[in-house]
Amino acid sequence: MIANPVPWPNGARVAVSFTWDEDADSILHLMHPETGHRKVDTQTFLRYGPDVAVPRLVEMARRQEIKMTFFMPGWSIETYPHAAELVVANGHELAHHGYIHEMPNEQSPEEEEHWLVRGMEIIEGVTGQVPRGYRAPWFKYSNVTTDLLVKHGFLYDASLMGDDIPYVMRAQGGEVIELPSHWGMDDYPHYAHVPDYEYMMPPKSGEDAMRVFREEFDAMWEHRGLWVTIWHPFNSGRLARAMEVEKLIEYMKDRGDVWFATTLEIAEHVRKCIDDGSWTPRVDDMPYYAGPVQPRMEVS
Ligand SMILES: [Zn+2]
Repeated sequence: MIANPVPWPNGARVAVSFTWDEDADSILHLMHPETGHRKVDTQTFLRYGPDVAVPRLVEMARRQEIKMTFFMPGWSIETYPHAAELVVANGHELAHHGYIHEMPNEQSPEEEEHWLVRGMEIIEGVTGQVPRGYRAPWFKYSNVTTDLLVKHGFLYDASLMGDDIPYVMRAQGGEVIELPSHWGMDDYPHYAHVPDYEYMMPPKSGEDAMRVFREEFDAMWEHRGLWVTIWHPFNSGRLARAMEVEKLIEYMKDRGDVWFATTLEIAEHVRKCIDDGSWTPRVDDMPYYAGPVQPRMEVS
């Protein structure tokens, strides 16, 4: 059912990447610029991410001997440097997730580039290297984002939803590898009850949420696809849910033939397969539309 699967390393049937959007309370201050500093209860809900969940997840990854990717807004890195440093010190990938979780496709191209560069500089300050991977805050990838990622040397993006396997986005002057996932791989709809975000879902049990993610995994294992999460430490890193995450990792290991990797490692592998001719990707020219799409509404 997947027409052109990627040859994963060592004959693995599926590439799995646990990726965490370590937003902390960036969105609170973006949504409530005048009052976010007074909303202490929500601050604690979100600070749980860098202060409690990230150390727990890093320890879990050490126990399970896997590497993960953390997409962190620059502001969150500046505010919680201990979380970013812990991630890097343990060999996980620190990747770009905007500055303060701004909305790129509601900014001008100049503003979008400004904050992209700011986030790059902050990550470079922690890792010593420019980031190679990007996930647009809110998934609000714009019509110029691919151009900007090419211009600034990014290898891959992990924001979009256009396939079950990696594909290539071509822009002026280069291309970016897309590692797609979709809303069904996000933990917000399962867990996020955040009144100050006006996002109030009835929280599920971790076991129920994991049924969705496990079903996605089983399908990708069967058909040799790609499994990439959009999880948040303050959601899925809570104690009972983190225990379910670890059970899922063990389920995957029991199933076998799984390649656990950071999204950077997956993108590097895909790039190598393209360059040595062992796999030919689908290529999308970006952006999809040169301007607004308007229906013909001719009234005679
Ligand atoms: Zn985010």
